[in-house]
Amino acid sequence: MGLLEVHGVTKTFGGITANSDVTLDVSEWEIVGLIGPNGAGKTTLFNCITGVYPIDSGVIRFRGTDISDLKTHERAELGIGRSFQNLGLVRGTTVLQNLITAQHMTVPYGVMAGMVGAPETYAVEREVVGKADQILNFTDLMEYRNEIVDDLPYGVLKNVELATVLATDPQLLMLDEPSSGLSPTESDRLGDILLRLREELGVTILMIEHHVPLVLRVCDFVYVLNFGTLLAQGKPKEIREHPEVIAAYLGGETDAA
Ligand code: ATP
Repeated sequence: MGLLEVHGVTKTFGGITANSDVTLDVSEWEIVGLIGPNGAGKTTLFNCITGVYPIDSGVIRFRGTDISDLKTHERAELGIGRSFQNLGLVRGTTVLQNLITAQHMTVPYGVMAGMVGAPETYAVEREVVGKADQILNFTDLMEYRNEIVDDLPYGVLKNVELATVLATDPQLLMLDEPSSGLSPTESDRLGDILLRLREELGVTILMIEHHVPLVLRVCDFVYVLNFGTLLAQGKPKEIREHPEVIAAYLGGETDAA
């Protein structure tokens, strides 16, 4: 049984079919890539999986349970964590505060107890800060712990966003173009972190990614969307050599790999 099963999903906006009968599986501990040209329907599929958009037809299962009708926060509580193409951080606060805010989705005391500082909240807060520090170490961000996020360079912010998603304890981590705007060195470092996430924390990853060398390095399996439908699927090396994928999307990019 896959961790995530997307079966025959169709999503239209007025006359535009953004996803047409899309089927894909993500098994536990896999790193799966979702690639395709601009407008192919990748972000729409992410929005359907996370519940931002209702689907027109098909079914989405998580650990075998149909989640197609669940709300976004209910899917998040089940363990689906997601990053955004544009950074989803709380401006004007520190990196640490962002990680604490993200964890409060799962902290077991009510908002009022947190606000008045009831005794049990102190122990919980210590735990929350401890977990934030572990994540900062894991993502090589400790040196930025107390920096205001607004002052940080983009490459660091992308990493902070990954850290905040990790702080929600996802079983399935959905990343939307995690390497966009990163330098080649930063992108390499991101690849290291993603592989360690899987190896050391057992996190499963589904990622939209344009940077072919990163996809080839970290992904076990790749799905290619084109005009809302699946054009191809396979291991990264098969995808790189797939004539239709090269024609529709990769073109000269395969040389870069
Ligand atoms: P990119 O790589 O540029 O982010 P994508 O593969 O993620 O592209 P989508 O953003 O999912 O593609 O867009 C797929 C199609 O659906 C496009 O034609 C887009 O204009 C359309 N679309 C997406 N969201 C909406 C919306 N909320 N309302 C209307 N049309 C939409």
